[in-house]
Amino acid sequence: MPLTSPFNLFPPNDKVKPLIVSSMVDLAVDLGALRHNYRQLRGLCAPGVKLMAVVKADAYGHGLLPAARALAGEGADYLGVGSLEEGQALRQAGLTLPVLLLLGILPAEAGPAVGADLEVALFRLDVAQALAAAAAAQGKRAGVHLKVDTGMGRLGLLPAEVFPFLERLRAYPQLEVRGLTSHLAVADQEEKSYTLRQLEQFVGVLKAARDQGWALPLSHIANSAALWELKDAHFALVRPGIMLYGSPPAPERHLPVELQPVMSLTTQVLQVKRLPPGASISYGCTFTTTDDCNLAVLPVGYANGFSRLFSNRGEVLIRGQRAPIRGRVCMNLTMVEVTHLPEVRAGEPVVLLGQSDNARLTGDDLAGWAQTISYEIYLALGNANPRRYLGE
Ligand SMILES: *Cc1c(COP(=O)(O)O)cnc(C)c1O
Repeated sequence: MPLTSPFNLFPPNDKVKPLIVSSMVDLAVDLGALRHNYRQLRGLCAPGVKLMAVVKADAYGHGLLPAARALAGEGADYLGVGSLEEGQALRQAGLTLPVLLLLGILPAEAGPAVGADLEVALFRLDVAQALAAAAAAQGKRAGVHLKVDTGMGRLGLLPAEVFPFLERLRAYPQLEVRGLTSHLAVADQEEKSYTLRQLEQFVGVLKAARDQGWALPLSHIANSAALWELKDAHFALVRPGIMLYGSPPAPERHLPVELQPVMSLTTQVLQVKRLPPGASISYGCTFTTTDDCNLAVLPVGYANGFSRLFSNRGEVLIRGQRAPIRGRVCMNLTMVEVTHLPEVRAGEPVVLLGQSDNARLTGDDLAGWAQTISYEIYLALGNANPRRYLGE
């Protein structure tokens, strides 16, 4: 069924998924800003360092295919995705650059992964065997990146396990071990001692493996934070995610480059009313007016990914001014106080994320009200609303 929103919702080939469609809420993704951010990050790397643009989780809610096309167009060397399906979608869209499945695969996914020339983060022998068998059957070689846990405590072989594992891989000449890979736990913090210990572990394992004859030309460990602050962590390739989408890896850190926000969310005032003192607002009556209050009702709520945790904490921008959220955020509605903006009428534009005159609400602002990180804000908003693309 075609959707009836006025926006150009889905670029060709983007998978249609169930969405809350409302022409009262507009989520825009600025691909020009994404390209700008890519160039800024590229500029932080030495020539010859490859850049893997991380586009997992539907490009952090920005839309896998439009983001991937824009980044490939800028010259990204690799794309990093979270699932076989995302990798296959990139191939179906005609993207031919190398793609790494960051979480690895299940043994049953080996055939399709090899078929689509997707490279795999590897940490299981049964997967190695399945990949080798699939590669043999298809007359190909399968590219793998051996995942090492240097202190993240998540996926990967412990350093002591790497060696025995590599020895077992000698039985599978169909596998091409491109490099070692690891992930950093606290690279976004100013205090770098833990990160430096992780790097030391990584370098130690890498060197030992190379001494045994493994070339491992494409080894990598750097996320956005390490790309920006730790040149020693760049190795052959860096894997930024969040900074491509315009946010620092940690909100309090000052970035060395000027990043542009990519996602914005706007709506308009659905109703304005004047409440007397002593009036309660929204479910639970958690806010009661003490004076006369001009209230604007907005047609956005947690169905749009606008978190209920913003209740009585968050703000929106109207005419470049902040207006505080009063009472609880509902499924489709949110109330803000505009007593200080007496000219506001129904139809007035409202910025929920992004720029209004000289004022701005960032992903980190919204994340702070909900005690989360900008990553989750972008995902929640991007997943719940149709996306309109700028700068295509
Ligand atoms: C998500 C992810 C990244 C990107 O992290 P950012 O903090 O968004 O830069 C890099 N590597 C791996 C393995 C990841 O899962």
